[in-house]
Amino acid sequence: MTIISIEILRVGVPFDTGGPRQGMRPGLNTNPWVVNESLMVRIETADGLEGWGEGFGHFSNPGTEAMLKDLIAPWFIGRDETDLEALMDGAHKSFFGFGRHGPCMYALSALDTALWDLRAKRAGKPLYQMLGGPAGDVSVTRYASLMRYGGDTDAVARNTDRAAGLGFPMVKLHERDMPAFMAAREAAPEGVAITLDVNCPWTVEEACGVARELKEREHVKGGFLWLEEPVWPPEDFVGLARVRREGTGISGGENVASLTEFAHAIQSGAFDIIQPSVAKMGGVSTMKEVFPMGRAAGLRVVPHSFYWGPGYVATAHIIAAQPEPEWLETAFIEYEENPHDLIDPFDPKMTLSADRPGLGFNADENLFDRYLISRNVIS
Ligand SMILES: [Mg+2]
Repeated sequence: MTIISIEILRVGVPFDTGGPRQGMRPGLNTNPWVVNESLMVRIETADGLEGWGEGFGHFSNPGTEAMLKDLIAPWFIGRDETDLEALMDGAHKSFFGFGRHGPCMYALSALDTALWDLRAKRAGKPLYQMLGGPAGDVSVTRYASLMRYGGDTDAVARNTDRAAGLGFPMVKLHERDMPAFMAAREAAPEGVAITLDVNCPWTVEEACGVARELKEREHVKGGFLWLEEPVWPPEDFVGLARVRREGTGISGGENVASLTEFAHAIQSGAFDIIQPSVAKMGGVSTMKEVFPMGRAAGLRVVPHSFYWGPGYVATAHIIAAQPEPEWLETAFIEYEENPHDLIDPFDPKMTLSADRPGLGFNADENLFDRYLISRNVIS
């Protein structure tokens, strides 16, 4: 069926971090981070069907939005959505010169996910069933991904204790120093995994030092399950493989942009756990291929999904379709209002219903209007 319009929406919902407002990237945020924003696309076809997708994200949204609005969404108008593979292949080959990473890929990711939503709706099935998942409803387990509290050990301990008490199996920090790491490890019972996302700050030598220190703390309630993106730059796969030899689990992949690059990362021995991001690396089409690739190499695949829109929901479906479901990253923040009925940051379980075709993403139009940052319709 022909694509007749593509709506590009940015919606930002105010939130409370549960601690100091540090932002996730020291040095990036010139203003405090006060709304959690999603960049969504809604594809409409000639027969009135709608497909939802999400492109990354947060402070990069003006770039992704511009790519979509001025260049990529117009290319899709008037094309047939049903041969998804051919359509996306044509799009990737048309736009590769504008970046196989960053806003161009984020925009293509959003449209790919929206096309999968359409495909599953046409089949009358939830996305997880289209991807080989079980026949009935499925339950997905969330993990709590804490905000950065800038080393505030009280906030780290308080929020870790809260997440553990709510029943989350894992708590992830975005801190960078040992006192904060240990505050979380001490606050949670041994059965709750603690992981450390440091967002690419260190040289290989520095990262090796931290990995050794973490290894020495294994006796404290089992220590830490993984150290995420310890090395600058994130694509230094050989350097990451060196850090990995210190014996602490190494994860990464939210800044890996394609299947080809994942293959390089895996061949280099960079990771124990890979973390593809559906809103960054090409949408459902590529994301679903990373799982078998990781499994074949003996790696865990635990996606990145620090967002709340259709990309977050798509990640839940892809997880639910796997033979051994993994955990769903969920930002542990309190929204002024939960943006839709499939996100509740304080509930460790999400249920995907077999009766909701596609993503089952029910947009709350009133809420989107209330928190609207921008809306563009390309037709
Ligand atoms: Mg991360």
